[in-house]
Formats: sequence, C-alpha cells, structure tokens
Amino acid sequence: MEQDTVVGGISRTVSHNGYLFDIGGHRFYTKVSLVEQIWREVLGDDLLTRPRLSRIYYKGNFLNYPLLPGEALRKLGVLESTRCGLSFLKARLLPIRPENDLETWITNRFGSRLFEIFFKTYTEKVWGMSCKEIGADWAAQRIKGLSLSALLLNAIRPKRGKSDEIKTLIPEFLYPRRGPGMMWERLHQILEDAGTRVVLGARVQSIEWVPEGVVAVETTAGRFDAGHVISSMPIQQLVRALRPAAPEWLAPAARMFRYRDFVTVALFLDARHLFSDNWIYVHDPGVSVGRIQNFKNWSPEMVPDDSKSCLGLEYFCQEGDPLWAASDDELIALATRELAQLRLAPESAVLGGAVVRMPKAYPVYDDQYKSGLSLIRQFLHQTPGLQLVGRNGMHRYNNQDHSMLTGVFAARNVMGAHYDLWEANVDEEYLEEGRVVTEAELRKLDATQPAVPSRRVMPEN
Ligand SMILES: Cc1cc2nc3c(=O)[nH]c(=O)nc-3n(C[C@H](O)[C@H](O)[C@H](O)COP(=O)(O)OP(=O)(O)OC[C@H]3O[C@@H](n4cnc5c(N)ncnc54)[C@H](O)[C@@H]3O)c2cc1C
Repeated sequence: MEQDTVVGGISRTVSHNGYLFDIGGHRFYTKVSLVEQIWREVLGDDLLTRPRLSRIYYKGNFLNYPLLPGEALRKLGVLESTRCGLSFLKARLLPIRPENDLETWITNRFGSRLFEIFFKTYTEKVWGMSCKEIGADWAAQRIKGLSLSALLLNAIRPKRGKSDEIKTLIPEFLYPRRGPGMMWERLHQILEDAGTRVVLGARVQSIEWVPEGVVAVETTAGRFDAGHVISSMPIQQLVRALRPAAPEWLAPAARMFRYRDFVTVALFLDARHLFSDNWIYVHDPGVSVGRIQNFKNWSPEMVPDDSKSCLGLEYFCQEGDPLWAASDDELIALATRELAQLRLAPESAVLGGAVVRMPKAYPVYDDQYKSGLSLIRQFLHQTPGLQLVGRNGMHRYNNQDHSMLTGVFAARNVMGAHYDLWEANVDEEYLEEGRVVTEAELRKLDATQPAVPSRRVMPEN
C-alpha cells in the first residue's frame, strides 16, 4: 500500500519538463553488501559511480568540505584561524561534561569557534532548534569518527581502502543514472512483472488487530485481510490508526514523536556550468536556504540537454509555518533571489521551477522519542505479525540502506526467521567496525531479541 501515486517515498525522483530532481540528493552508499547487491542487481549499468564534491558557503567564501587546513586558514583569515585554534585547545584541555547535547559534543571535539562556523547555523536551520536541544545521539550516529584530527589526517594522508573511510567524508558514491527514483520504479516493475501488486493511491486509515495479532488494513482503496503488516508509516500515525484503539498505556506514544518538514525548490536554469559541487551547505544566516543541490553533477541525465542546469534549493521548515504555507510561485521567487544573493546564478538565468513539500522528512531526536519507541516496542512484542521498518516507521534518522535492510529482515521474518529489526544498526556498530557487513554476519542477527532503549538524561535547561 502506498498513499502516493508514485513509488520511492523520500527517495523518489521528480520529473518536470525534462528536468529530474531528488527530494534532497540521495547518495547510494552502504557497508552492507546485501544492500549493494540489491542495488546492482536492480540497476545494473545504470548505477553510476560519481565523485563527491561539496563545499560550505560561509561569509561569502566557499570552503571545501572536508576541510583543507591551508584553504581554511586563507579564507577565514589569520585572526579567525587563531581563534579557532585557541578554542580547539581549550576544548581539548577543558572538555565540557556531561556531553549530552549536540553543541557540547561538537564543541568538545572541534572547539567553540569551529562549532559556530561549520555546524551551528546549518544544523539549526535543519532542525529548527538550538543545538543545545538536540541529543548527542544525533552526532554519535551521523558523524561518529569525525574529529578535527580525523579531518586534518583526511586532508593530508594518502587515501586507503573503503573500510578506512569516515562516513561523512566518503569521496565517491553510487547514483542511478536518472536519480534514486529509478531504483524504486524499476523494483516496482519487477514486482508487478512477478505478479505482486503494489497498490498506489491507497492510504492506510486503520489497522485492525486482536491480542493474537493483526487482522486487516483498511485503506482508501479498500480493505485488505492481513496476517502480517510491515509498516513504514510514521509511528504516531500507526498508533492512531489502531482499531480497536491503542491500549491506554500505548496511546501517549501518538504524541511522543516530532518531525522536521522539508521543501525542495527546484530551479531550472539556462546555464551550462554553475559550480562543480554535487551540493553546497549554506552556513549563512542571511538567507533561508540550507543546502543547494546541483543535480547535473549527480548525473548528466538530470537535465534535458547539456546547456541547462537543475538546482535544488532546500528549505527546512515546519508543516504550516510561513515557508511551508507559501505558494509555489513565492517559493520559486525566494529561491531565485537567494541564488542571486549568494552570487551563484543571476535571476535572468532562471527559466522556471517546481516545488515539492515533503512532510516528516526528518524524524527528530528529542527527549521524548525514546520513551515513545519503548512503548511501541512493548506493543510489537505482544502483537505478532506487526513489524515496523524504515525511517519514520522506526523513527530513525537513517539512510536508504537501513530502510532496505529492515525491509529485508521483516520479509524474512514473514517467511519464518526471527530478526530483531531494531538491531539493524547499519550506521552505528557496523560502521564503527569499519568494514563491509556480509550476508553471513547479517544472518547471525536472526533470533536476536528486542532490547528496550534507555531514556537519555537531559540537562535541566
Ligand atoms: C533531504 C534528505 C536527503 C537524504 N539523502 C540521503 C542520501 O544521500 N542517501 C541515503 O541513502 N538516504 C538519504 N536520505 C534518507 C532516505 O530518504 C530515507 O532513508 C529513505 O527514503 C527512507 O525510506 P522509507 O521507506 O523508510 O521511508 P519513506 O521514504 O518516508 O517512505 C515511506 C512511505 O510510506 C508511505 N506512507 C506513509 N504513511 C502511509 C499511509 N498511512 N498509508 C500508505 N502509505 C503511507 C509514504 O507515502 C512513503 O512513500 C535522505 C533523506 C532526506 C530527507
């Protein structure tokens, strides 16, 4: 069941007058060999290997990311560089404890100046809250292994193998010739050809259950009997969709998850070459745009002909706020203005645009979500046949490989295996080990038992 009329969810590709763009930009990168094998099987030669270039825009300067020390010194100036160095030394000598929030986590590793220049503005644009309010879990999961010394080493030492890489700094990645949606459109076709129906435009409205397990789903396209339900819908919606209603002890879980929403404004330009980056992080509080994708640099086939470019300006917002509620024309005008303000392209080069609003693009890690997860996991434990997978399905700030792996585990469980989907930590444990995860290792996770997460201790203010 898919409520939308297209497949791919957040990993879809949108097509508009011959221009293609993603919701964000979707690198295909994984250490799980099974996932890569599926990508290769489905896409074959259409899976391109692309070089990565992404820079940070800060006070009118483009700084390479990962940082190059010489360039950072030149562009930030001696005074600012000295301040960065001193604040780094202070952080190493006098780290702040406890290290529960993102600001403290990053400051302890980089110093307060580098935190302000390279992390604060962008991160706060993305999450719409202070870095003090964001749990250190986020950093631990997303930028584990990243430290100033790792960045410096990365800049000066010769590159070694894949297993040696820090995830945030991967120098190349895989990408389908016509965007990530190609993967899901092709898989859709393979399923249909094999006689498996994918029902589009079918919004799941309720999930009927009894103490012995799930019974059926009621959708806008009809009722379907089901002994197994694998859900990727946001957990809060799932709790609200239960019929009979969720037990009293579970009901609060419907209010324990928060999300960040996302608007992509794609601009189509009469420009052969604008900049070489795949994407740019905009660390400039003077504009609302957070990041800019240059889709032609992801794949040349994302534009109708080589004389054109397609940029994706990314705005992080909250459903219903002024940005979200602005009309498409207003958003295209805003993006056009900001692009010119950043001196990336003149307004006259913009031929047109398209807007995609993606609700619940980012599951937020706040002080409540773990309690919510704990409740839903207790319910799953007692309700056979119901499994949660993926990003909002498990409220996990993940990549496609995690969604795919949990999907594969869930399907194997339907066939009689006993995988604990919550153990599929492709980002944390496996990457920390720094090696490719084999199918044999994945199979060892069969029969793992669910573990209830502990609540994070929050600072008092
Ligand atoms: C800006 C951005 C950039 C990203 N970049 C990358 C990247 O570079 N590399 C990478 O690997 N990953 C990236 N990701 C993450 C990637 O998009 C997700 O991991 C992946 O798409 C999650 O897939 P999913 O199936 O779990 O969830 P989703 O993509 O959210 O799919 C869930 C589906 O369920 C449907 N649904 C929800 N409720 C109902 C209902 N009641 N009834 C029927 N259908 C319903 C939705 O319509 C949706 O299609 C990025 C994400 C964002 C937001």
